[in-house]
Amino acid sequence: MKDVLLYDTTLRDGCQAEDISFTLEDKLRIAAKLEELGIDYIEGGYPGSNARDADFFTQVKKLNLKHAKVASFGTTRKFGAKPSQDINLKVLLQADTPVVTLVGKTWDLHVRDDLRIGQKANLDLIADSVAYMKKRVDEVIFDAEHFFDGFRANPEYAIDCLKAAEDGGADWIVLCETNGGRLPGDIRDALNHVSRAIKTPLGIHCHNDGELAVANTMAGVEMGVTQVQGTINGFGERCGNMNLISVIGNLQLKMGKRCVTPAQLKKLREVSQLFYELANIQPNKRQAYVGDSAFAHKGGLHVSGVLKNPETYEHIDPDLVGNRQRVLVSDLSGRSNVVYKGKEYGIDLQDQGDAVKDILRRTKELESQGYEFQAAEASFELLIQEALGKKKKNFQLIGFRVIDEKRKEGEAPISEATIQVQVDGVLEHAAAMGNGPVNALDQALRRALTKFYPAVEQVELLDYKVRVLSSGEGTGAVVRVLIESGDGKDRWGTVGVSHNVIEASWQALVDSIDYKLYKDARR
Ligand SMILES: [Zn+2]
Repeated sequence: MKDVLLYDTTLRDGCQAEDISFTLEDKLRIAAKLEELGIDYIEGGYPGSNARDADFFTQVKKLNLKHAKVASFGTTRKFGAKPSQDINLKVLLQADTPVVTLVGKTWDLHVRDDLRIGQKANLDLIADSVAYMKKRVDEVIFDAEHFFDGFRANPEYAIDCLKAAEDGGADWIVLCETNGGRLPGDIRDALNHVSRAIKTPLGIHCHNDGELAVANTMAGVEMGVTQVQGTINGFGERCGNMNLISVIGNLQLKMGKRCVTPAQLKKLREVSQLFYELANIQPNKRQAYVGDSAFAHKGGLHVSGVLKNPETYEHIDPDLVGNRQRVLVSDLSGRSNVVYKGKEYGIDLQDQGDAVKDILRRTKELESQGYEFQAAEASFELLIQEALGKKKKNFQLIGFRVIDEKRKEGEAPISEATIQVQVDGVLEHAAAMGNGPVNALDQALRRALTKFYPAVEQVELLDYKVRVLSSGEGTGAVVRVLIESGDGKDRWGTVGVSHNVIEASWQALVDSIDYKLYKDARR
């Protein structure tokens, strides 16, 4: 039995975010993943808005979801029409879902200025739209739009709207904090009144404009709400929706409210990452519970603390949500960071005093030149291998040349790279074009190496960042290049530093390929 039910609206509200758009394939993958996570309701979208949403409702049936119920979303009927003649309600029924979520107005200002109808007329259309739906689908959820703003403006009327939905037979009444500007105290205050007036189970739907969507949702649950609506990673319009990832962690681990199983909780990070991937957005490393930095320790004091007892500087055991502790290596580091790091990579450095000293010295030296290993752990792992005398030289560079040519004003430049490498005494020469010099060099290098190391072809450049380090020197400054690569299974970061951006990129590219080959050989 669950204490709180989870309602995901990533596929509807989440897609309102300005840079998010999912294909039908993505949407089906998302639905399947939400089922795995133990989400109770999956809102698939508004079937009337576009063909893709309508297709989704047809296709999602083939997934045969065992637990999650699919909901279609739409508005209460239009003023002046009978429910049976209303086109919105008709489209919702065509989606043929076990759950329908109807959104309706509860703020007198919206009734007056947006709908431009009388207050009583709005109550009628809420009640008869809900009643009409309830006769035709298993479960009807009423989303009370702008409820908390409405309650502030006119508490009596806002609650009358909820009563209309209750009279219509709604299974759930969900209080929406649509504009995202209310405080947890407002939520508690309103719920105090609502819970006395309404018997129907209550839910809450918060937006994040004051960065309080999670806090407001938690306040709602404290006040007895038993359904929470949000999106994975907080995707949503403006500043986003309530982040279900954080709320699941908080409900389960802080409040002792059951909403997923321990095995599902352990998928939290994996789910979060997949959604970023599908949305084509860099994961937020500082995201609570699931971000890369959520359990990362840098200062020597914190590190020696967590090594003795993780509770000293961690609010939960990261393993519970599928995350892990990370110890960062930097010039703040001591011996224990390096030994810990080695252990993470499966290398026992406990009795390798000389190597550890060497690694520390090298790290500090490189960091003083501008290298940074916190986002380039692959480069650091290679450095450990080197200190242990185990780093393999996969190829030798004979030389490369990169040409950038711009033939006409207003025309895009062309980049071309040629490269010569030697592998086990065999010379190989390759050339490639690219949309920029680094891209051309990357292509040429891979082309030259694929013959010897076919796995190189799996490597994908996921992110490329250049940072100017020494300010004041203008274009003569030192730059640091960070590259994030992936091969469908893992992601890894590498680094290069130079006055020359091509050289810095080259170093990071070589590390990326060396790491891929090292990683595959270790398997
Ligand atoms: Zn919303």
